[in-house]
Formats: sequence, structure tokens, C-alpha cells
Amino acid sequence: MSGSGSCLCGSVNLEYSSEPNFFLLCHCTDCQKATGSPVASIIGIPEDDFIIKGETNSYKCEAGVTRSFCINCGSQIFSTAEGAPGLMLIKTGVLDEQPNIDPTMVCWTDSKPNWLEIKHPDIKFEKNPG
Ligand SMILES: [Zn+2]
Ligand SMILES: [Zn+2]
Repeated sequence: MSGSGSCLCGSVNLEYSSEPNFFLLCHCTDCQKATGSPVASIIGIPEDDFIIKGETNSYKCEAGVTRSFCINCGSQIFSTAEGAPGLMLIKTGVLDEQPNIDPTMVCWTDSKPNWLEIKHPDIKFEKNPG
């Protein structure tokens, strides 16, 4: 599987050429603040299979996650995490085609709002995996 995506203004474009390692929903408060949403929807792609064009800036938060976003429109594109070396964590909202699979993992259900019902996979964590 391969995929492509872009930010809201179109000045940042990405491509990848492999199967996602996982499809994660994260309800942690960092993801909530950064995305402005109750959940971040993320696929993991090996960094060698990831190409990005256009200018991004990034913010490294205390949890060791570096979050990259378009310098023009602010769309969150991808993150890297100290806990997930070699992986690009791509926000699925920027993809041209949404993944046609169910999420494989849900993290930080502790901070999931009660009104949000998601078809949860079996793999569920109240906080971080592992
Ligand atoms: Zn943009
Ligand atoms: Zn998170």
C-alpha cells in the first residue's frame, strides 16, 4: 500500500510507499491540545518510506514527541517519538485517501470524552502502550 497527502493550504506534500505498521487513535491530552480535537488519528510508516516536500516547523513536547506542522497553515502533518524510533507518525486527516481499515490500537482512553463512541479494537490502553 502507498499513500499521499497534503496540508490544508497545499504547500506541504507527503508520500509513502509501504503498509502502515499500525493505525492508532490517541486521546492523550497532548494530542488533544495539538490537534484541537478529542482524538488524534495516526498511522506509523517507516521513515525510509516517507517523503515530505514543503516547509514544516516542529514543536517538541515534554513527552518526547516532536510534532511537525505546515509553517503557513498550521496543519499537523507528522510526528516522531523517542518511544518509536525509525517511524513517522502521520496524522490520517492529511491523507488524500483515508485508511480503509479499522484502527489497530487506541491509547489514553482515560482522557477520551464519554460522548465519543468509537468502534474500538481489542487493543486498548488507558494510558500509553507497553
Ligand atoms: Zn499548509
Ligand atoms: Zn497522544
